[in-house]
Amino acid sequence: MTTWRKRLRRRLPASLKARMSLVVFLLVLGAVALLALATLAVAERGMRDVTGRQQYVSLASAAVFIDEELDARRNVLRAIADSLAQSGAHDGAGLQRFLAGQTVLGKEFYSAGVVGVDGAVLASVSPFKPQAGLNLKGRPYFEQTLATRRSVISAPLNGSISGMPIVVVTQPVFDAQGAMRYVLAASVNLRQPDFLGRLGALKPGAGGYLYIMTNDGVIVEHPDKSRIMQHIGAHGPLSEPTRRAMQGFEGWQTGTTTGGVDALFAYHRIASTGWILASVYPMREAFAPLHAIRSKILLAAVLLAALAGLAGWRAVLRLLRPLARLRHHVHEIRRQRLGIEALQIERRDEIGDLSRDFYSLVAERESAEAQTRDSERRLKLLTDHVPVVIVYIDREHRYQFINATFERWFGVSARESLMHSMREVLGEEAYQLREQYLRRAFRGEEVEYEFTVDADAAEAAGAGETGERTFHTTYVPDVGESGTVEGVYGLIHEITKVKAVQTALRFAAATDILTGIANRRRFDEQLAQSMQRTRATRAPMALAYLDIDRFKAINDSLGHQAGDEVLKEFAARLARSVRASDLVARLAGDEFVIIFEGVKSAAEVRHIGAKIIGAIRQPFDLAGGALPVTASIGIAIFRDGALAPAQLLDLADQALYDAKGQGRDGVALIEAGAPA
Ligand code: GH3
Ligand code: MG
Repeated sequence: MTTWRKRLRRRLPASLKARMSLVVFLLVLGAVALLALATLAVAERGMRDVTGRQQYVSLASAAVFIDEELDARRNVLRAIADSLAQSGAHDGAGLQRFLAGQTVLGKEFYSAGVVGVDGAVLASVSPFKPQAGLNLKGRPYFEQTLATRRSVISAPLNGSISGMPIVVVTQPVFDAQGAMRYVLAASVNLRQPDFLGRLGALKPGAGGYLYIMTNDGVIVEHPDKSRIMQHIGAHGPLSEPTRRAMQGFEGWQTGTTTGGVDALFAYHRIASTGWILASVYPMREAFAPLHAIRSKILLAAVLLAALAGLAGWRAVLRLLRPLARLRHHVHEIRRQRLGIEALQIERRDEIGDLSRDFYSLVAERESAEAQTRDSERRLKLLTDHVPVVIVYIDREHRYQFINATFERWFGVSARESLMHSMREVLGEEAYQLREQYLRRAFRGEEVEYEFTVDADAAEAAGAGETGERTFHTTYVPDVGESGTVEGVYGLIHEITKVKAVQTALRFAAATDILTGIANRRRFDEQLAQSMQRTRATRAPMALAYLDIDRFKAINDSLGHQAGDEVLKEFAARLARSVRASDLVARLAGDEFVIIFEGVKSAAEVRHIGAKIIGAIRQPFDLAGGALPVTASIGIAIFRDGALAPAQLLDLADQALYDAKGQGRDGVALIEAGAPA
């Protein structure tokens, strides 16, 4: 989601009701504003057409009015011409007198004169002193009057005497034969307000104005009198509407003035002169009423939208009442203050759908919970009665589950131990012992180890046994879906009895049945270990190889059973003659061995050998009477070196062979590694 959306979401009110009301408000506001603006746009368009057309129509009537004005002046001139034709005035003084008698001339015109057909001004009336010998020959309006024999209105021009901007109106004067005798010429001062002065009353509005220009763009009339006689383009490039008007356009159009003002333009030609009558009406003024309405309409739209929002809020409140009730019910059901039957599942609307779905959800969950409870109960029954301790340990090494066997065997209360750490429950020492295995299990390894407990400590087990009890623990990692170890199952079973049997078996396997001392197997194990220790400690060791002298003869004379008695007594005497730490073993038949670790010297060894010889020499008490028995002893001394156990035994055997060879009942010694 983009960040501005997130920001907007955060700013929106949290309540659904407030949001919906806001949406209603915004929608209504948008719709009303859009409608109002669209209507205004259409109205503005219509109004522009009407105003434009109106402006053109009033311009057309103004043009007619101007035509009438000009006609009126021509008529004045024509009437004067008629009376001049009949007056009989022919010389300059007569003509001057005649002119002076025409009072109407001074009212309607700025100046007037009687001109001969040769162009000479014969008489004149004017506010200034006329120029002597003035001749109009060659002036366009004069030549045109001669040519057309009709009244002419000149283009605007600067009066040659007055210097004022003027137009000249002419009227030919004919005699009875129809020949042209004079031309009456009268000027109109364009700066004087009477002529066209009333045009101001026809302007389209306070900011609008009318003006007149010739087809060439020379201004004839303008509210700014200083522009009269100037070209329309004197103040800057021509506006588009003006350019079109000069090309012949008549009618109205919108456009922009040279000064940059949007305006309605209208153009119409004045029939008698061909001049262009123009009106300019600034748009802003033309549409001012409409613009005034626009802000009112928008304000009305906001008010309407606010009212609609308020109404929407009330409606939403009403419509959402069932939803609020549902929310309340769900709230109460969660806190178990209401049962799920409180839900309105019979409703036929979306609330009903929601209620039904929620009802099913809760019902399904309750049934699933009941099932879970059942299976948990069964599992507990099972785990509580198996002769195995079952625990579950979490990542913080706390007991999450403990079965009844754990309580029975170790006298630990499940209630007090659950969710407590192993350190708290077992004590620091026992915890230290288990921690290393737990760590390995939490790394995902299945770990096994054994531990022993004093029978006293395990008294709660009610075994009533003394000594030690031994247990075997298996830690099984509980690997979650993500692959991490979430906890560890601990399974503990007692192996005290198995251990006892194991020990007995191990003992039996290492013991000579006849004499009860160590056998060959035990001896082999011990010899290798002793030699290794000798190399490590550098304290020499001795291996004695003993053989009863002429044992066969005892067997033969006294019987095999007596022989066995001798063997047993022989073994007992050997065991008594040496330290407990020395190993006495029977290899086979009448052959015995003794391992002495940590001997000091050959002399000491020889002394031990002699002591044993002495012990054997004491007659053996047998059922059939006392029996003299002797034995020969070969001893090999080992200090260091890469000698194999079998080689050391061979050396001792060699020494025994020597002892037998020297007449029996004696000791022979060999130092391992010494030159033979
Ligand atoms: P030597 O002085 O040279 O040792 O003569 P010896 O007669 O003792 O000869 P040897 O050591 O070779 O004889 C051992 C005899 O021990 C042979 C065998 O019949 C006997 N014997 C072996 N095992 C047993 C046993 O378990 N019980 C009895 N009674 N005799 C055994
Ligand atoms: Mg023998």
